[in-house]
Amino acid sequence: MNKIYLDHAATTPIAPEVFAAMEPYLKEYYGNPSSIYTLGQQAAQAISEAREKVANAIGAKEEEIIFTGGGSESDNTALKGAAFALKDKGRHIITSKIEHPAILSTCQQLEKYFGFDITYLDVDNEGFVDPDDVKKALRDDTILVTIMMANNEIGTIEPIKEIARIVKERDVYFHTDAVQAVGQIPIDVNELGVDMLSMSSHKINGPKGVGALYVRKGVKILPLIAGGAQERNRRAGTENVAGIVGFGKAIELAAENLEENAAYLRNLRDRLINGIENNIDDVILNGPRGEHRLPNNVNFSFRYIEGESILLNLDMLGIAASSGSACSSGSLDPSHVLLAIGHSHETAHGSIRFSLGKGNNEKEIDYVLEVVPGIIKKIREMSPLYEG
Ligand SMILES: *Cc1c(COP(=O)(O)O)cnc(C)c1O
Repeated sequence: MNKIYLDHAATTPIAPEVFAAMEPYLKEYYGNPSSIYTLGQQAAQAISEAREKVANAIGAKEEEIIFTGGGSESDNTALKGAAFALKDKGRHIITSKIEHPAILSTCQQLEKYFGFDITYLDVDNEGFVDPDDVKKALRDDTILVTIMMANNEIGTIEPIKEIARIVKERDVYFHTDAVQAVGQIPIDVNELGVDMLSMSSHKINGPKGVGALYVRKGVKILPLIAGGAQERNRRAGTENVAGIVGFGKAIELAAENLEENAAYLRNLRDRLINGIENNIDDVILNGPRGEHRLPNNVNFSFRYIEGESILLNLDMLGIAASSGSACSSGSLDPSHVLLAIGHSHETAHGSIRFSLGKGNNEKEIDYVLEVVPGIIKKIREMSPLYEG
C-alpha cells in the first residue's frame, strides 16, 4: 500500500539530522544543565547553542528566547503571562476568530475565570484580519493584541507587520502565533515589530513537546510555570535537553533551506489545487491564492458531503490528510475557521486539508489527483444532499 503523508500542519516526521543531534543527549550527556560539574555543563552548553540557533532563525537575541513545552505552552505563556503581569493596567485583549485553540481557549479562560474582556475580530472570506479593525478595536485599557502569523487550517498569511505598526503606536503588547509560519516564510522579529512570537518544534521536523516563545527585551510577563530559576526565571523545570537540541537543529535546517523548500512546496501546492479544481465540480478553495497562502497548505470544501468520509476513503488508500484541525476533528462541531470565513455548517463539514512537506513529491500529488475525483463521486452518489 502507498503511504502518502499530507498532514504536516498536524505534525511532521523528525529529520534524520535532528535525531542524530539529539541522540547523545538521551544517552551519554544526561547531566542536569543546572549542575556545575562537567556533565551538567555539557548539557547547559548544548542548550545555549540551540538557543543561539533559534534566536538567529528569527533575528532575535539569545536572551529573548524562552524554551517551552511546545506551541500551546508558548501561546499560554504569552497570553496569561502578559495578562497577569499587566492586570492592573488594563484587562482588554484583542484577538481574531480564526486563532488556534491554544489562543482561543486561553482567551476564554482569561475571560471566564480572570475577568478579562476579549474582542474577537472577524476575518474576511479568505481569512484575512483587517489592520483597520485592529485599530478600531484598540481601547485605553487594551494591554495585548494577539493575531496569528499564518493560519493552520486555511493557510492565510496575516498582515502582521501592518498590524504590529498599528498596535505599537500605543503602549500595547503584540504577540503572534508563528507556529505554522516558521520554516515556511521568512521571520525577523524586528522587521515585523512584534513583542512576542510562538514557535513549535514538531511542525518543522523536530521532536514533539518542545517549542519556544520569543519575548522582546523589556516586555514583562509572569511565568506560567513557577519553580526553579531555569530560562532566566521565566520557565521553571529541568530543561528538555535532547528536545531543545533537536529543535535547535530543526530550526537551523529550516532557516537554511527556507526559500528553496518554500518554492518546492508552492509548486506541489498549486499542482494539487489546480488538479482538484480542474477535475471536480462544486469545490471551494478555502483561503487565498498565491503569495499570501502558506506554501504547504491546500484546503477545499467539497460540497454535499462529509469530510470524515473522504478521510476514511483516503486512509484506505494510504493517504493521510485532515478535516480541518486535528484538535477539532475529534468533535462534531464544524471548524471555527471555516465558519468565520462565511461557510455554512454543511459546507464546513465537507472540508479537507492537505498540508504538504518536503518529503512529498509530484508523483504522490498525481496519485492523490488520480483517486480523489472517484472518492468524491462515490460519496456524493450516496449523499441525500447531492442531486447530481
Ligand atoms: C500546532 C499549532 C499549535 C500548537 O503547538 P503544539 O506544539 O502542538 O502545542 C499552536 N498554534 C498553531 C498555529 C499550530 O499550528
